[in-house]
Amino acid sequence: MSKPDITPPPLRNDCFALPAGVSWTPVDEALALLRDRLTVVTATETVPLDQAAGRILARDIVAQRSNPPQPNTAVDGYGFAGAAPEGAQVMPLHPGRAAAGFPFDGVVPDGHALRVLTGAALPAGVDTVILEEDVTVQADHIAFHGPLKQGANTRRAGEDVVEGDPVLPAGRRLTPADLALLSATGIAKVQVRKVLRVAVLSTGDELVEPGDSAGPGQIFDANRPMLLSLMDRMGYQPVDMGRVADDRDALRDRLNSAAAQADVILTSGGASAGDEDHVSALLRQAGAMQEWRIALKPGRPLALGLWNDTPVFGLPGNPVAALVCTLIFARPALGLMAGEGWQEPQGFDLPAAFEKRKKPGRREYLRARVRDGRAEVFSSEGSGRISGLSWAEGLVEIEDGARHIKPGDSVRFIPYGSFGL
Ligand code: AMP
Ligand code: MG
Repeated sequence: MSKPDITPPPLRNDCFALPAGVSWTPVDEALALLRDRLTVVTATETVPLDQAAGRILARDIVAQRSNPPQPNTAVDGYGFAGAAPEGAQVMPLHPGRAAAGFPFDGVVPDGHALRVLTGAALPAGVDTVILEEDVTVQADHIAFHGPLKQGANTRRAGEDVVEGDPVLPAGRRLTPADLALLSATGIAKVQVRKVLRVAVLSTGDELVEPGDSAGPGQIFDANRPMLLSLMDRMGYQPVDMGRVADDRDALRDRLNSAAAQADVILTSGGASAGDEDHVSALLRQAGAMQEWRIALKPGRPLALGLWNDTPVFGLPGNPVAALVCTLIFARPALGLMAGEGWQEPQGFDLPAAFEKRKKPGRREYLRARVRDGRAEVFSSEGSGRISGLSWAEGLVEIEDGARHIKPGDSVRFIPYGSFGL
């Protein structure tokens, strides 16, 4: 049988060449657009501190009480008034003691010392404390060597925080340390943002559920477990919308149901402009679709749009691209919508343990980890290598321009932890 006379397309000399006539948006420009356009979408609620960890403050918090609330002793020892001069000091010991939670009621006479324990409020007549290890106690007297400065071994009232001072700003995601600060400054309840609900939906005829039997041509849905747990780790409420085949009606129904249950929808797959790319097609039909061609590797076009007024992040299906796009684009965008504000991932510069040549045009993110103070990258940049995502402990970010990185050259490493994971 003779074959039809079809001319194959001309070969490309570079498989990463950008499509002719299509302009690719630099990463920073894409981020600036998101930052400009998105705003907080969550309502507020008031919760007690024991439910506040990981929640986002809806208002600035002001101290209700100073920390410490009164001057107190920082050590176990003996308290008295004023500085002690150079040389041997002997003082009569006043009866009684001051302990944490049990203040001393009386007044310590000038020139006398009182037994004090760490955390005890300084009684009247005491502003200076000598450490018990530096003291001999004998016959109702203490002896020690001066000099000692006035105020030694004590903490001033409000030396940490003064009542009325701002303690934490709106947008703060509360850490365990923040709970200590709030408690210490007299705050028992906080107004926080409701937790952002993020629907996660996988699309593709080829996908089957892990645990089900997979026939030829089928693959297990790897994105959904990853994205659901990413949302959970980032402090959002994941809403599992399951998988949907490459079927426009089914996808439409599922998007309707996701929009009804969540504040944001993350889909993976079907976001390009191909025949079976129904996420982008539906968003385009709905008239609220932007195809984001971002100059980034790994990355395919992102389909951003609104479905029934709910923002949709149409992520690429490829799990490597899906993860990178989530960390780089979706994460700061979700932060804005959740009320946390725009979060830049903090990276640091380290010597590279690898060599790489890079052409100008796209920003690149390599799966990386740190060993012996150097950034290693995964052996393959293949975008299908899910094992590399799991091997990695962060990303190396290489700027948009050309670079030839040699071992020992400085590269920017962003640990997964900097993305809230
Ligand atoms: P798409 O963006 O739909 O063109 O998919 C790009 C590639 O990612 C294809 O090889 C898909 O089979 C694969 N893919 C899409 N969704 C998933 C998923 N949930 N888990 C694993 N691979 C996926
Ligand atoms: Mg697909």
